[in-house]
This record gives sequence, C-alpha cells and structure tokens, in this order.
Amino acid sequence: MPPWLGTSWKMNKTVAEAERYTRDLLRALDARDTDATIFVIPPFTALAAVCRVAAGTRLTIGAQTMHWADDGAYTGEISPPMLRDCGARLVELGHFERRTHFAETDATVNRKVLAALAHGLRPLVCIGETEQERDLGTAAEVLARQVTTALDGVPAERISELLVAYEPGWAIGAGGTDADPNYVAAMHARIRSVVAQSHGADAARQVTVLYGGSVNARNAAEFAGSPEVGGLFVGRAAWEVESFVAVIDAFCAGG
Ligand code: PEP
Repeated sequence: MPPWLGTSWKMNKTVAEAERYTRDLLRALDARDTDATIFVIPPFTALAAVCRVAAGTRLTIGAQTMHWADDGAYTGEISPPMLRDCGARLVELGHFERRTHFAETDATVNRKVLAALAHGLRPLVCIGETEQERDLGTAAEVLARQVTTALDGVPAERISELLVAYEPGWAIGAGGTDADPNYVAAMHARIRSVVAQSHGADAARQVTVLYGGSVNARNAAEFAGSPEVGGLFVGRAAWEVESFVAVIDAFCAGG
C-alpha cells in the first residue's frame, strides 16, 4: 500500500504563511514521482484557506481536533460538519499534547472517532506511551488500552478508513529523543495484534499505522525499512516545505 506522509503544524503559521507553504509544497510534489498520500494539518484559523489552495490537488487536508457533537453549546469547539464545510477530509484525534494539556481521554477520542466516521472524515488516531510508562515496561499495555477504547464500536469493515499514529510521548516535540526503528516496528506489530483481537485478522491487515516522533530527513529512511510502518507523521521537520520534502524523499527512497 502506498505510504501516508503528513504533518501537523500545531499552533504555528498565519493564514498567509499557510497559503504560501501549501502552494510551495504542491509545486514540489508536482516535480516528484511518488504514490505516497501527503497530508497537511493546519491550525483551525488557516484550515479553510489551505483547503481552498489544495482543492482538486493530491494533497489531503485535516484538522488538529474536533468535538464529537454536530452543533450545540460548546464554546470554542469545532464540529465535524464545520470541518467538512471547510473542505477537511481528515481529523487528528488524541494527540499526546491534547491528552496532556486539554484532558483528552481514550473515551473522548472514541466518541470523536465514531463522529468522524459518521461524517466522512478520516480519523488519524494518535496513541503512545509516556517516558515513565516505557521505563516501567507498560508501553504495550498502554497501547492496547488506547487502541481498544478508541476503536470501540467501529465496524470491522471500516477499520481501513482509519490511520493510527504511534507517537511515544518521549519522542515528540523539542525535548524528544529518536526512537529505535526496531522498537517502533515492535510497537506497530503490537498495535496490529490488538486490532486483530478486537476486529479480526482482516481488519488488522488493513489498518495503516504511522510513526511520529522526532522524524527528520536523516532518520526517515530507517523507518521505511519496516513493513509494519505505513508512513510518517511529522512535526517540526515538516514545518518548512524543503525539509518536509526531504523527509518524503528519504522515506520513499528507503522503502
Ligand atoms: C508530534 O508532536 O506529533 C510530532 C511528530 O512532533 P515532532 O516531529 O516535532 O517530534
């Protein structure tokens, strides 16, 4: 299956910067021969503008979170129909930072996954253990809980619509450290075996599992070697077009 390679800009970029990045990225992708699905997840303020620039192109645009309700008294929140209205096709759910700073739980991620599927949005479900959980040897257990709860109630035949991003908390962001590709492959296999238990072997084969955490052009190829890794979810190294494209090139050359 062609890989998925994407980025979330987190809380970065003005509308003008976002539009310029998107145009530059499209130009760079036009010059390349890759079957990878490339996705970009801007902040809400730039979502509609980026969707307009990317309309009719190969670029998939997503949002960084959403509420599960269609509408209502939820000040500050954004609903699935609002994301569709902007042109988003994908939604990132349960990122480590949302879980840490904004009280996102496995249960709320699950409600959002079901709402996303109901509205034709592809959920990108982020999971991952903390440094302490890794050191205590409970990472596999944590991933099993996160995956089982997030996917509860999703019909087996719809599992192929989901992306799961394995992003250990100790590997992401400015203080993050590089993960050993063998460790990543083992955790991806673990995620797949949990899906096999909850949704059956076919679903487990079809679920796409991405890796994210301090990925850059230097280490991207190391992850491409594993059949367990269906692509990459990149933060800092993809906030400039040139370095995102270098990651894409490295991963595609390494596969
Ligand atoms: C992330 O926070 O999801 C992430 C992948 O960040 P970075 O690539 O900057 O470690």
